[in-house]
Amino acid sequence: MTRAAGRANGAIVSSPLRLDLDGDALAANWRTLAARGGSAACGAAVKADGYGLGAAGVVARLWEAGCRDFFVSNWAEAAALLALAPGSVAVLHGVRDEDMAQALAGAVRPVLSTPAQVKRWRDGGGGACDVMVDTGMNRLGLSAAQAASGLLDGLAITTLMSHLACADEPDHPLNPQQRDAFRAVAAAVPAQRYSLANSAGIMLGPDYAFDLTRPGLGLYGGVPTSDAAGLIRRVVTPAAEVLQVRDVSAGASVGYGATWDAPRPSRVAIVNLGYADGIVRGLGPSLRFAGGLPAIGRVSMDLIAIDVTDGDVGAGDWLALDFGLPALAAASGLSQYELLTGLGDRFERRWV
Ligand SMILES: *Cc1c(COP(=O)(O)O)cnc(C)c1O
Repeated sequence: MTRAAGRANGAIVSSPLRLDLDGDALAANWRTLAARGGSAACGAAVKADGYGLGAAGVVARLWEAGCRDFFVSNWAEAAALLALAPGSVAVLHGVRDEDMAQALAGAVRPVLSTPAQVKRWRDGGGGACDVMVDTGMNRLGLSAAQAASGLLDGLAITTLMSHLACADEPDHPLNPQQRDAFRAVAAAVPAQRYSLANSAGIMLGPDYAFDLTRPGLGLYGGVPTSDAAGLIRRVVTPAAEVLQVRDVSAGASVGYGATWDAPRPSRVAIVNLGYADGIVRGLGPSLRFAGGLPAIGRVSMDLIAIDVTDGDVGAGDWLALDFGLPALAAASGLSQYELLTGLGDRFERRWV
């Protein structure tokens, strides 16, 4: 609710910071990943509010592109998407007692991942469902033995799925192990279709695609493996308005802790953006704005200082942040996933 409210407010009042979201690039990334999956259908993981972009905007655009399978984590996320993607949403975290009324009422499928959830779904009179089987990640899912034990007999399974632990490391031995384990489960458990690959899994090749793929990161401009570097288009560009431009004399410092000293008489722009917006302090030294202007000093909660001595920048100008996810992740130690999902509620999300 708070995220949605923040966004609604952002659209009403004029926000001094925004995310420019490239809808064509989102759709192009989906088509690229769909093509890589060969004859498999291509879905979309839209949990965590569409990885921070805003799930409603993402789902509307991917639906238009032809996507018909959306994955969220919980039932609150599913409820927000019902009208946008009728009959096409699955909840990865299964179904609790308190979710049953919602689950039975709507057309959203739970992804059952424990014997207790399977029992709850059966006893409650649930219909079509998905099932998660663990093939080596040891996170969510029935074990292969549980899946083949008769526990699932007679269940109307739409999608039987598993999840890869190391797909972003193409040579990791767990990848073929999990694929082969999943093949064995698929041969034993009837389902309408089978699904294994996330974004990085799609890049592992056609024998990981099965009937349905489930990319997230790659849709949003994240680069799941180095093989994908030339294939994925950038989707997200944060931008912020300049509050003030000041002259700083040589030797004077800027910001908390006085960590940056001007090496020459400098012009410094202060923008409406900070670590409360997900641009965390560890990113500071890597941040480049508007074609190369560097952030300087410490990132504050709501403000970042930029050396614009070599630019032509005034108060009220908007400066785009170079948000190249692989490079920022490598420089900061944050994952591309953390960079996206950390983008805060104060940004106005604007599809362009
Ligand atoms: C998040 C998630 C995905 C998408 O993974 P990416 O690495 O973002 O492509 C797919 N499947 C499951 C089960 C997930 O939890």
